[in-house]
Amino acid sequence: MDTILVVNAGSSSVKFQVFSIEGEGRLRRQIKGQVDGIGSRPRLRASGTSGDPMADRAYPIEAVADVPAAMGLAGNWLREELRIHPIAVGHRVVHGGPDYERPVLIDHGVVARLERFISLAPLHQPHNLAPIRSVLANFPSLPQVACFDTAFHRTHAAVADHYAIPHQLHAEGVRRYGFHGLSYEYIAKTLSQIAPDLAKQRVIVAHLGSGASMCAIKNGRSVESTMGFTALDGLPMGTRPGQIDPGVVLYLMTEKGMSASDMQNFLYRDCGLKGLSGVSNDMRELEASKDPKAKLAIDHFVYRIGLNTGMLAAALQGLDAFVFTAGIGENSATIRARVVAQLGWLGMTLDQTENARHARLISRSDGSIPVYVVPTDEELMIAQHTLSLLMNRPSSHPQQARAS
Ligand code: ADP
Repeated sequence: MDTILVVNAGSSSVKFQVFSIEGEGRLRRQIKGQVDGIGSRPRLRASGTSGDPMADRAYPIEAVADVPAAMGLAGNWLREELRIHPIAVGHRVVHGGPDYERPVLIDHGVVARLERFISLAPLHQPHNLAPIRSVLANFPSLPQVACFDTAFHRTHAAVADHYAIPHQLHAEGVRRYGFHGLSYEYIAKTLSQIAPDLAKQRVIVAHLGSGASMCAIKNGRSVESTMGFTALDGLPMGTRPGQIDPGVVLYLMTEKGMSASDMQNFLYRDCGLKGLSGVSNDMRELEASKDPKAKLAIDHFVYRIGLNTGMLAAALQGLDAFVFTAGIGENSATIRARVVAQLGWLGMTLDQTENARHARLISRSDGSIPVYVVPTDEELMIAQHTLSLLMNRPSSHPQQARAS
């Protein structure tokens, strides 16, 4: 069985999935797993297609001290216990910088280029690159593909890509990149199958997870996004504030003596739903809470989705469909109902029964804008890109590339 391994590495976990390659290049998910608690309480967990547990093991802290060690642990488990030898590895890489507008086959030159973007995404890029380097070192002939969260947004016009700051900074890479691109690409692709006419028109997708953003898509291409230079901008998120006046940052640094690293921790970990509610970063807990600050946090979240929809509709010069996706978008009928109510002025109406059962189409037929719920699948997108690059290589001999 030929397989593709998909890797999504963060600071404290390495998530992985294995896809088998079926006839005509179709992919089937076989295993979902992760090594988490890196450097604290390492644990390998994995399950099969129907959620059946395959592994749940704890390790001593020194056995999995960093991301390469976690990658090694997952790789050894797959090879030695399951006899799985992937013919390629697809990686989620948060930043492709200004240049990469599509996935790329990795070599040492690509790694060196991607290292230059570490300063643009210091919390993610180093962890994304670590397993790439360890696979390159241990299995130099195993093809690896980098798939970027920024790539789908490289179609933005210059007016959308710039900040109003001196031009030299744009040349250095200080731009509005946009993120969650693999999710938006998957949604755009899926919409072209479920509603091909709408997919050619003006669509707003709301990716509402612990990270949250929205994207304006016209004829399958991204024209605008709520995120910018980093994944801090735009909507309020689990622990990030979203759009914030830079004057607040200056105030905290000058009046409260916060350093750059204090600021980084504050903006990435202490704000958003968690900071505003003082209760939790998890929407389920906020929905269950009686605390008025939890209610304020939800109200703020919904309000900002409404404001940002107006902005993105302006970028699109109209709106033909709206899509919810990711953890909150796929699972919270309450948030969807509130967002649709907020957007009633645009002509959205909700079918409450369909919304309650998380149907694919949740708008009523008397509304002018269809509203969809489409579960996202960034890992499948990465696997598809990896397979497609593998097959289109000038000398593609997948069997020779197998890790041994
Ligand atoms: P990420 O991939 O960015 O970590 P997800 O897309 O998995 O995030 O979304 C995680 C969030 O989804 C959780 O923090 C939680 O707030 C929210 N969520 C998941 N299920 C539900 C639900 N049934 N109701 C409300 N919110 C939910």
